[in-house]
Amino acid sequence: MKKYQFWFATGSQDLYGDECLTHVAEHSKIIVERLNASGMLPCEVVWKPTLITNELIRKTFNDANADESCAGVITWMHTFSPAKSWILGLQEYRKPLLHLHTQFNEEIPYDTIDMDFMNENQSAHGDREYGHIVTRMGIERKVIVGHWADEKVVRRIASWMRTAIGIMESSHIRVVRVADNMRNVAVTEGDKVEAQIKFGWEVDAYPVNEIAAYVKDVSKGDIDTLVEEYYDKYEILLEGRDPEEFKKHVAVQAGIEIGFERFLKEKEYHAVVTHFGDLGALKQLPGLAIQRLMEKGYGFGAEGDWKTAAMVRLMKLMTAGMKDAKGTSFMEDYTYNLVPGREGILQAHMLEVCPTIAEGKIGIKVNPLSMGDREDPARLVFTSKTGPAVATSLIDLGTRFRLIVNSVDCKKVEKPMPKLPVATAFWTPQPDLATGAESWILAGGAHHTAFSYDLTAEQIGDWGEAMGIEVVYIDKDTTIRGLKNELRWNSVAFR
Ligand code: MN
Repeated sequence: MKKYQFWFATGSQDLYGDECLTHVAEHSKIIVERLNASGMLPCEVVWKPTLITNELIRKTFNDANADESCAGVITWMHTFSPAKSWILGLQEYRKPLLHLHTQFNEEIPYDTIDMDFMNENQSAHGDREYGHIVTRMGIERKVIVGHWADEKVVRRIASWMRTAIGIMESSHIRVVRVADNMRNVAVTEGDKVEAQIKFGWEVDAYPVNEIAAYVKDVSKGDIDTLVEEYYDKYEILLEGRDPEEFKKHVAVQAGIEIGFERFLKEKEYHAVVTHFGDLGALKQLPGLAIQRLMEKGYGFGAEGDWKTAAMVRLMKLMTAGMKDAKGTSFMEDYTYNLVPGREGILQAHMLEVCPTIAEGKIGIKVNPLSMGDREDPARLVFTSKTGPAVATSLIDLGTRFRLIVNSVDCKKVEKPMPKLPVATAFWTPQPDLATGAESWILAGGAHHTAFSYDLTAEQIGDWGEAMGIEVVYIDKDTTIRGLKNELRWNSVAFR
């Protein structure tokens, strides 16, 4: 992750004299120091001199635009700051904006409070004036309310910072397509030009044999070293196959991992799509190789699904460096358990599930693939972690993009599945399987998802809103009647 910073800009005016302005600066410096000392923020907060004039506000926002390490500005009106002085600065500002609606003192000082104190500490007043102009100008921003030392508030700032990173990084995502979308499939299609306009994504195609040439050029020595690493790290599940033949199959994936990564690095791509039916000179469908690349932070989409590949990359960036991260992966809805009280969706893919979401042992298996016409590919197999997570689907509705965000509860399957040669997860969508799946289908969600334990629906939804697209949440509060109305109203709002 790039070392981003966030600027802390406090608004005031000179109506209350120098002493008041000295206090304002002192207070905001203390807040910045304590936020940084909390250890809860993914990035540093940088204090900026109090903003009291149109000129200084405009200059500060333009400096923030120009500073490559600045990923956003946090604003707070300590006193009253007439909002017309913010118009030009806000108009020219292009990065994420947080309005921290806080106050230096937590409690009203009942015994000593006088008019001087009230004039100095009037964010309840000043932040409303400021909020009005941001709303009037139609600027997308986050508002967080509460005392700055409250852990819940600091956590929300930390969470917003990761959304801001997603907004900043989105326009640097480059996806390489070494295969087109699967023939006749609708939901993985989309307008790549519009995706670049809306999200900043570059989506380029290369002939598959160009990447296959990189794979062919990988030396035997490099392959042997990586195969050794696999054999150290993972459990080898021969299941009756000849050990030497098994190893040869694994070595093909090692060559693909190294060759693909060299290609991606050299050409500066951060996400890749493949297609089991369009493999050119590749001997196997990239399985283990893609799983390892996803683990390293690359985005991936199967069957040419470049939208999901970009989303997986985005979510990897938003969660980069997170302490105790549980993982982010490309995923696919496969099979239901419809037994009452135990409902859920078994998640998997032909091969390509990211091992960051694994819990427990990770094994390697070599099995035939029922689709395509290549060698039996090696793949990592495991089951996944439990707990809350988000499954997201970005769809193109022809006139606009819609981002569907489903909060899901991940569980263990009740029994092992010894005959299933792929990595899996299992979850129940909120609010329950029937309502969740009905909502997903009504909203037009895909079978492929970008999935993460480490992001909240709020974080990913805020990213979508910042991109100016429609966001549909499916969670514990969803009702079919409410969702249908929302979709109906959105079809007017997002025309
Ligand atoms: Mn698929």
